[in-house]
Amino acid sequence: MPIITNVRTILTAPEGINLIVVKVETDQEGLYGLGCATFAYREQAVKSVVDDYLKPLLLNKDVHKIEDLWHLMHYNAYWRNGGITNNAISGVDMALWDIKGKIAGLPVYDLLGGKSREAVPIYQHVNGKTLDEIVTKIETLQKQNVKHVRIQWGLYGGIAQNLNTPPNSQDGVYGDPKQYMNDTIKMFDHIRSHFGDGIELIHDIHERLTPSDAIYLAKQLEKYRLFYLEDPLPIEQGAWLRQLRAQTSTPIAFGELFNNPHEWHYLLTERLIDFIRVHISQIGGLTPAKKLAVFAEQFGIRTAWHGPGDVSPVGHAANVHLSLHSHNLGILEWCGFSEVMRKVFPGLPTVKNGYLYANNKPGLGIDIDEDLAKKYPAKTSVTKWTQTRLPDGTLSTP
Ligand code: MG
Repeated sequence: MPIITNVRTILTAPEGINLIVVKVETDQEGLYGLGCATFAYREQAVKSVVDDYLKPLLLNKDVHKIEDLWHLMHYNAYWRNGGITNNAISGVDMALWDIKGKIAGLPVYDLLGGKSREAVPIYQHVNGKTLDEIVTKIETLQKQNVKHVRIQWGLYGGIAQNLNTPPNSQDGVYGDPKQYMNDTIKMFDHIRSHFGDGIELIHDIHERLTPSDAIYLAKQLEKYRLFYLEDPLPIEQGAWLRQLRAQTSTPIAFGELFNNPHEWHYLLTERLIDFIRVHISQIGGLTPAKKLAVFAEQFGIRTAWHGPGDVSPVGHAANVHLSLHSHNLGILEWCGFSEVMRKVFPGLPTVKNGYLYANNKPGLGIDIDEDLAKKYPAKTSVTKWTQTRLPDGTLSTP
């Protein structure tokens, strides 16, 4: 029975975003696993939890007992469900699934119960400063047969103008929610009339509106038949989804900020959302995510796991394996990776005609070139993009 002989973190930033990968090593020659523990903006804290607390807890444990080891890590600090701890646990958890697949000679999607489809449909991002730029970028993706596109005019919160902010206000990323809301309606009118029905459209409010404005925007966008509208509210205001659901048929996706099952339980049982899109490492890895997928399936809710650049390629591989398996897959977010990233992480899933394909290697099918990863060191710095402010200078949810 293989046992755990080492647990360690690998920090790297090939594209300038801090990535945290956990490597679990065993007493069997060449047998190890990789997991994603990427909390890009608190990387040293996650590293400490893995190296200083989880490693001593896990040494000499049986690699096969994933369920028991997940709970051992979860209960060990007594206080639980925090984002830093969950990411650290995820790194080990995914690595153990990777190891189990390598021992069995099976990809993780086969361990979970097998493929429900041969490839995973994806959506990609289009951001533009002008409507023409957005149109051109969508046309480029259409040539690659990408059918689902997330469109943002000026990324999150729009492009602010004439803010009239009081002198001596704090530095930050300023936005104007009303202008953003009106511009977004104009954008959808333009894009839907330009492209017709042959394209699926997604938009991310990114929790930038008040509850009543979010409801108003969701109603106004109903006629453009979105694939989904993402994060209309801050997670702290999730109960407002009851009012939103009662007033519009625009499909809703929610959950990339979730840490704790209590944050999604009522949204699923009351059927307040259409797509659950947690950040899998943020909830503690594949073990809780596979349970969440099955739970969502009982309520007719589909999965759309969070897949931006601040998920490591190992985390993206986990997203793909779970999505290949889950009957209730909706879609997967795909940010696309550079050639450098493909060299640092050999085995990254590949895209063809709007679908993601996993390779068929055992485990998660992804590796890391540690020597190359060292050439792109992670950097600890003050996070700026989250310092968002309203026109009068008040901090707002990012
Ligand atoms: Mg989002």
